Amino acid sequence: LPELYANQVEKTYPNGTLALESVKLGIQPGEFVSLLGPSGCGKSTLLKLFAGLEQPSAGHIRRAEGRKLAMVFQEATLMPWARVTDNARLPLDLAKLDRAEADERVARALKLVGLEKFGAAYPRELSGGMQMRVSIARALATNPDLLLMDEPFGALDEFTRNKLDTDLRNLWAERGLTVLFVTHSIYEAVYLSSRVIVMAARPGRVIADVAIDGPDLRD
Ligand code: ADP
Ligand code: ADP
Repeated sequence: LPELYANQVEKTYPNGTLALESVKLGIQPGEFVSLLGPSGCGKSTLLKLFAGLEQPSAGHIRRAEGRKLAMVFQEATLMPWARVTDNARLPLDLAKLDRAEADERVARALKLVGLEKFGAAYPRELSGGMQMRVSIARALATNPDLLLMDEPFGALDEFTRNKLDTDLRNLWAERGLTVLFVTHSIYEAVYLSSRVIVMAARPGRVIADVAIDGPDLRD
């Protein structure tokens, strides 16, 4: 059963904008899929449909049951008044996870993104790249099976971006996550993914869907 499935999906926003037309695709568990395409071709819309944040106007969206989803947005979306650990723990607090377990997961996630020393800091004390890493840690602390990322590294400098690319790739290889990753970088798509989907605009649609050969780091 696919992790994510879209069949003949169309999305028209209330103002009449046709954002997606005839999108049909399935993503299998463990795939790392990059989504490439010009601005306005519906990449964010497709992620929001998969996340359940928007509903399709026609067609079907399905997600495998019992699988935990986390989404990382383009901006860091942190609460400015809360320390890094409290930001990263928020979803776990909302889920009423046991406090000790939550603290341990947050500590592990912050270590993974290299911010173990910044738990007590406030977002404004961190660079843009570090704030983005907190957002990623917040997503990872929920132990997702499926990670939807909407151009998460777009605003970062190349050095930080390369570092996070490598970390994400390693994480995927270690944990067997399913990743759907929006990017404007062809380099990033080819280097990171097991599959690249290319979209075109007006109306947003899939125009290419290719598997990337290469060493499978999970072997
Ligand atoms: P991308 O992520 O590829 O840049 P989007 O999914 O953000 O594309 O947008 C696809 C199209 O839908 C664009 O024409 C955009 O202007 C439009 N759009 C996105 N969100 C909304 C919305 N909430 N209301 C109306 N139009 C929208
Ligand atoms: P960016 O280009 O991401 O905005 P900065 O120039 O702000 O990066 O920061 C560069 C590096 O300096 C960061 O990756 C981080 O290692 C370090 N740094 C930034 N802010 C702090 C801070 N408040 N305390 C300690 N180190 C920091």
